[in-house]
Amino acid sequence: MSAGRDPATGSGRSLSEIFRRLIASTGPISLAHYMAEANARYYGDADPLGAGGDFVTAPEISQMFGELIGLWLADMWIRAGRQEPVYYVELGPGRGTLARDALRAMKRYGLEPKVHFVEGSTALKQLQLEAVPEAQFHPDLANVPFEGPILLVANEFLDALPVRQLIRIAEGWREVMVTVDGERFVGVPGARPMDAALPEARRGEPEGTLIETSPAQAAILYEVAGRLVEQGGAALFIDYGHAAPRTGSTFQAVRRHKKVDPFKSPGGADLTAHVDFAMLAQVAQSRDARWLGTVTQGEWLRALGIEGRAEALSDYAPQHREALHSSMHRLVDADQMGELFKVMGLAAPGWPDGVGF
Ligand code: SAH
Repeated sequence: MSAGRDPATGSGRSLSEIFRRLIASTGPISLAHYMAEANARYYGDADPLGAGGDFVTAPEISQMFGELIGLWLADMWIRAGRQEPVYYVELGPGRGTLARDALRAMKRYGLEPKVHFVEGSTALKQLQLEAVPEAQFHPDLANVPFEGPILLVANEFLDALPVRQLIRIAEGWREVMVTVDGERFVGVPGARPMDAALPEARRGEPEGTLIETSPAQAAILYEVAGRLVEQGGAALFIDYGHAAPRTGSTFQAVRRHKKVDPFKSPGGADLTAHVDFAMLAQVAQSRDARWLGTVTQGEWLRALGIEGRAEALSDYAPQHREALHSSMHRLVDADQMGELFKVMGLAAPGWPDGVGF
């Protein structure tokens, strides 16, 4: 057994090596399996965020992002009757920056929720504790308290969860599997017919069609929606993705701010796929949660007054005017994060409509 450290990940054993052995002994693995293991390794022991890392997220660009999310949640809570106890729940809080900014904004409106984080990474948990010392941690939603409304946020969390791909070849539908081709990993149609995994309406799509689904994302939405219905509350899911169903692969990898081959050095790059918000809204509604809408991040932040907020902060700190405006543009402009990123709002039955939807 090799005891050397993996140059790509700094981890004890190379994930490539583990995958190679697994594939050699049991055959190709599903793309979802590949992605789940690779991301668990990737997030497990490092902080990939920020200018010096692999990618930058909205809360790391500007404090305005988390503040406006905090305001939105406070507004919902106030109009729903200021119920206590109330829980702020965040899925995959990264460095804890969004939570810190949101909690500061909520406090100005008398909202001081208990804080529960769902996080898998040991390295990031440490940073989250520094940002929000009172936070309690969970590996998944199962043990987050059940007794009061939840105000839940997930920014760039769903895109890191595994996707499954089904492809139509001449013989019918197959799942995309990962196998070894010389030195490389490659995605290939599996041997087993998968027609039964598709809704009947989609089975007739032409050869070459690829459909991406994420049972892992659907499971999260199912659980969050169920909790909203039972406990009350509201939720925001923010991610890059599409509001209407589509086909084609969006599976990709980012390392050092560049797109790289997702089949090269698993565990050494962030693997993501675009989020299918249409499917997620259906899952939420199937449990009787209220779908408030899915809009672009640019529209949503503008509706919440990001332009006024940037002005107010600039008046307060004129030396930062330029930086404040340029970070605002990164968040809202169509050719930056404004259009590709979507915001989906959910609420409990009986909770009010949300600003911006
Ligand atoms: N929301 C943060 C970080 C986004 S990166 C931001 O906007 O900056 C994705 C986050 O989800 C990280 O905190 C990562 O550790 C966490 N994560 C990814 N997959 C996870 C899983 N399966 N379970 C729990 N946390 C996960």
